[in-house]
Amino acid sequence: MRVFMLFVISGLDELATIHLHKNIAGVFECKLCGKHSRDRTDGKRHLEANHFPWDLKDKFIRLSDGKCQCLLCDKVTSHKGNMRQHFVTHHLL
Ligand SMILES: [Zn+2]
Ligand SMILES: [Zn+2]
Repeated sequence: MRVFMLFVISGLDELATIHLHKNIAGVFECKLCGKHSRDRTDGKRHLEANHFPWDLKDKFIRLSDGKCQCLLCDKVTSHKGNMRQHFVTHHLL
């Protein structure tokens, strides 16, 4: 479980490395839309909210026992948080 979390975190970092550019003023700039962020954490939040929305509403279905099933690969997880992690590690990177 701990290892899995680590993957998720490095996944976000990877996105930040790819899509954030630190300009000469020390401001982080989003390469996708040009928005400025105060710092890397803020930039990651921006990327997540605007370009990689992991609100998975049409990406998985709820099973009758409360579990979630991924529509892309049929993987079943015990709750939505795990589905999000699954999605980040398997379908976004
Ligand atoms: Zn952006
Ligand atoms: Zn999947």
